[in-house]
Amino acid sequence: MKNIIFIAPPAAGKGTQSNMLKEKYGYVHISVGDLLRKEVALETASGKAVKNIIDSGELVADDLVFAILEKHLRNIVGKPFILDGFPRTLNQAKTLDKFLNDYEVIYLDLAKEKAVKRMLNRLVCECGKSYNLGDETLKPKTEGFCDNCGKKLVKRDDDNAEIFAKRYDNFLTNIEPIKDYYKAKNKLHMIDVNRNINDIFEDISEIVAND
Ligand SMILES: [Zn+2]
Repeated sequence: MKNIIFIAPPAAGKGTQSNMLKEKYGYVHISVGDLLRKEVALETASGKAVKNIIDSGELVADDLVFAILEKHLRNIVGKPFILDGFPRTLNQAKTLDKFLNDYEVIYLDLAKEKAVKRMLNRLVCECGKSYNLGDETLKPKTEGFCDNCGKKLVKRDDDNAEIFAKRYDNFLTNIEPIKDYYKAKNKLHMIDVNRNINDIFEDISEIVAND
């Protein structure tokens, strides 16, 4: 399977599709934000550098981010991976190309009004599973409780229409140059996610399957 750079606006179902890719094909999920937090927690040399930068309110410089990412990629050689929430800038996209070429970019495409509607219907569990009351296939089996662990489902704190609309607009503005960059390289695959999750998964599977 090919590596995936996963791009999606909020509420497009990236978590659900990532889990399906992990389960069916053994993908490793990489969130660069999580990697940075892990380095800090482990108090490695890079972790200490990251902590100092974050504590001073600055953004972590790209070379430090890439050093940490490269180290992690060396550890998972042989398995396909999903890069989630990264790159965030055009510069990062270009730098990434210096050591990564075997990948496809999957863009989960969802109109803003549809995304808002989904978000308003979304419930999450503390175990990480999320549900959607607006979709028969994504409802919990017992109303209000998690299928996995039985805990009570809650709305996410940041799930209100105004904050969500702002997040969505910010996402579109920031992603535009990155999207253009991958389009020009013929790496960009737009997936309409206003469909059944299994149909979406089938499309993604076709793109990332090795010939
Ligand atoms: Zn749960």
